[in-house]
Amino acid sequence: MLKGFFHVPKAVNEPIKSYAPNSPEKAAVLAAYQQMWNSKIDVPIYIGNEEIRTGNTRNMTAPHDHKHIVGTYHLAEKVHVEKAISNALESKTKWANLAWEQRAAIFLKAAELIAGPYRARINAATMIAQSKNIFQAEIDASCELIDFLRYNVEFMTQIYNDQPKSTSDVWNRLEYRPLEGFVYAITPFNFTAIAANLPASAAMMGNVVVWKPSDSQVFSAKIIIDVFKEAGVPDGVINVVFGDAEMITNTVLASRDFAGIHFTGSTHVFKDIWAKIGINIHHYKTYPRIVGETGGKDFIVAHPSANIKQVVTGIVRGAFEFQGQKCSAASRAYVPQSLWKDIKSQLITDVKSMKMGSPEDFGNFITAVIHEGSFDKLARYIDQAKKDTDAEIIVGGNYDKSVGYFIEPTVIVTTNPKYTTMETELFGPVMTIYVYEDAKWSETLKLVDQTSEYALTGAIFSQDRYAIEEATIALQNASGNLYINDKPTGAVVGMQPFGGARASGTNDKAGSALNLMRWISPRTIKETFVVPEDYRYPFLGE
Ligand code: NAD
Repeated sequence: MLKGFFHVPKAVNEPIKSYAPNSPEKAAVLAAYQQMWNSKIDVPIYIGNEEIRTGNTRNMTAPHDHKHIVGTYHLAEKVHVEKAISNALESKTKWANLAWEQRAAIFLKAAELIAGPYRARINAATMIAQSKNIFQAEIDASCELIDFLRYNVEFMTQIYNDQPKSTSDVWNRLEYRPLEGFVYAITPFNFTAIAANLPASAAMMGNVVVWKPSDSQVFSAKIIIDVFKEAGVPDGVINVVFGDAEMITNTVLASRDFAGIHFTGSTHVFKDIWAKIGINIHHYKTYPRIVGETGGKDFIVAHPSANIKQVVTGIVRGAFEFQGQKCSAASRAYVPQSLWKDIKSQLITDVKSMKMGSPEDFGNFITAVIHEGSFDKLARYIDQAKKDTDAEIIVGGNYDKSVGYFIEPTVIVTTNPKYTTMETELFGPVMTIYVYEDAKWSETLKLVDQTSEYALTGAIFSQDRYAIEEATIALQNASGNLYINDKPTGAVVGMQPFGGARASGTNDKAGSALNLMRWISPRTIKETFVVPEDYRYPFLGE
């Protein structure tokens, strides 16, 4: 162990590059895109120091061109999942005992690798695998991931520095141990940064991990694995398995050493996993940590005092960036009658001006949705809205999956505030608007609060301070992240810790010390210097 109280570099947010015409970053990312698009990779599962090719493979394709194959990946069987668990556990002692500054160095190095030599590749992979336009890829796969790594290192040291009081004769110490066992990370398709952060944050705190990425994100997960390897994450610390999510999860949850789950994905999957953990509870060595960030039905509510252009921009960016596939995406809006005519006409103009197509063409704001299942579900809801008398599609409503899974950005206006698309998470470019009477502002806030089971993000638009205060109080439990005069998406690590309550998750705030605390089990150490040698207290002297 080295001697010294080391300071880590002050975390700073990674600046977003512009990708303007003729910029070097634009040329670099397009070159990486072309190179990856025109080659085929073969992704094994990673267990300990082994790369295992099971021979049972699936193709990886791009959502915007689903016949184009960019590679294959190998599917794990039960025996591989068991092997991943045993490798993690074998690596545990050495990793947990490694000095914290060595762990910090590994993840700080990973951040710099992404900021520099891997930036074009991780962005290009995210453009191909998840159909993000370059701006969406940059703010996710590069900037957010770099920020997670840098800030989490800083938060780790803050946690370690948080020590109890002592007296001259008693020294109290808190040792922030990793969990006893291994952590299971299950990640969603929609953020490359989240895919990396869920295993990395637990590993950073000294835990060993079994990581199961989403089937729709393996292509960009491969770059994360390459970065972790080059940064020096030792073999066996993060083991990666792909394949049948239920089989993998059941195998993991059957282990006595299962110590925690770091999940991001849909609500019903998380609830099912929670129930399974409950059933197995008598079997585990320790109470598992259950951390899950899940679905959303995120709102925008505009007060009659709101600025029309700001509301429209909030709706358009909030609902349609990355095709509405952010957990934080606005998908229901409440607009006052007095502003509706102007909001409607500008909204239609803005949405019609958006170009849709491949992310390789930088003129496209909208690209494809992630897969056929999502496309078909969205198309069903759009078709239903075309039939329902209490719904009207005012712009969009077309879709086409002949080449890629393209759904036009669609705005539904409903006269029924409990219409199905006001309540259900669709996870696509569909926004539903309810127009309320200006005089019913307070009742509308109740509606916003009570309409959906979720409570992830929400936005209030108003120029009236009293209205802002009223809404902030009325919507206290309606979201974990509230935005005032801003779109409800785009939380930045270190600035707006992110997470929701109710059915949106355990609200452990990714990108903050609160999350890292879930991956430790503190031990209090009390040391007495002058030790009593007689049991009798002075009061017994009588
Ligand atoms: P998903 O639930 O389909 O998949 C998430 C992960 O769970 C994947 O790795 C998947 O393979 C796995 N999974 C699926 N079924 C499983 C099962 N039966 N048992 C175990 N694992 C299973 O979600 P998705 O489509 O990848 O992501 C979109 C969802 O994630 C949305 O609901 C979105 O709101 C949510 N999300 C939430 C946040 C947040 O911070 N709250 C962030 C991103 C995404």
